Amino acid sequence: MATLPDIQDDHLFAVRLMEHLVVPTFVLNSNGDVIIWNKACERLTGVSAEEVLHTKNHWCAFYDKPRACLADILVHGRADEMEGLYTSYSAPGDSHQGLRAENWCVMPKAAKRLYLAINSGPIYNDTGELIAVVETLRDMTEQKQAENALQSLAHKDGLTGIANRRSFDMALEADLLHAKRERAPLALLLGDIDHFKLYNDLYGHQKGDRCLKLVAKAIAAEVKRPSDLAARYGGEEFAVILPGIDAAGALRVAESIRTAVFALNERHKGSETSDRVTLSIGLVCLVPDDVMSEADLIERADKALYTAKESGRNQVVVADATA
Ligand code: GH3
Ligand code: MG
Ligand code: MG
Repeated sequence: MATLPDIQDDHLFAVRLMEHLVVPTFVLNSNGDVIIWNKACERLTGVSAEEVLHTKNHWCAFYDKPRACLADILVHGRADEMEGLYTSYSAPGDSHQGLRAENWCVMPKAAKRLYLAINSGPIYNDTGELIAVVETLRDMTEQKQAENALQSLAHKDGLTGIANRRSFDMALEADLLHAKRERAPLALLLGDIDHFKLYNDLYGHQKGDRCLKLVAKAIAAEVKRPSDLAARYGGEEFAVILPGIDAAGALRVAESIRTAVFALNERHKGSETSDRVTLSIGLVCLVPDDVMSEADLIERADKALYTAKESGRNQVVVADATA
């Protein structure tokens, strides 16, 4: 006949239960000292219970600098500090319900960067006094990486790997708004491969695709500041946004892009312009007035590009910023 375990001590039973729970869990007392650090938590963090029990050093299992963990926030009633500490979080108006957060943790001892979903819940005694806080952890790294990969796919052009038209539209809208607000200059460059139809006709579509990738890479390599964006605008056309740059600087970048494509030295026997693949560029650089739209900017760059084509291709034409 099965018998109940001989449990003399309810407290000991509760601690054992926690220790063997498959969910990584630790518990702080109302002082913020670690009183339970279970085996699953040891496995996740690489930090043994011995190292942290009866200390306030639990942070070092997750981070390389001292900072509050979610359980500390609950112990000290400082839910207002969550914003600066977590990638994502939800703090209910009433922290009696506990806290939820997600964060990238550097896990110094385990030597692996993990994205953890963290819950912390308060435990009260019969008189409503906080006596402990339980923190449970869930490794969400794989889900987060998959989510990031999907997001990046949604923003990248499938062929060339640089930003796609959607990212370009979003960036131009934001950068134009910012330039208007700050009365700062904004440059937009449109580049179009010369005689690319003839390239496809002569070398085939696959070689054409390979050429597009090379050109995209060459353009992106010349676009260096974090606020700049190089994108595939469509077909064999590329766009570059250069926020906060003056006309001379923008022209330098445009010339360096044109030169970089020329230096690829991709043979193009069908080109009427050169012995190789070349790029024509239309550039506009201005401080936008309040009524200027994204379409206005694109139209100006496009007109300059048309002039570059008409004037012999493989060159940069700057739009008249005053027109
Ligand atoms: P121009 O110098 O006046 O720009 O002449 P062009 O031949 O480059 O211009 P046109 O607009 O006549 O032709 C663009 C060509 O780009 C036609 C199209 O087949 C090719 N193209 C557009 N997208 C792709 C693509 O994804 N892969 C390949 N291989 N070719 C593409
Ligand atoms: Mg074109
Ligand atoms: Mg073209």
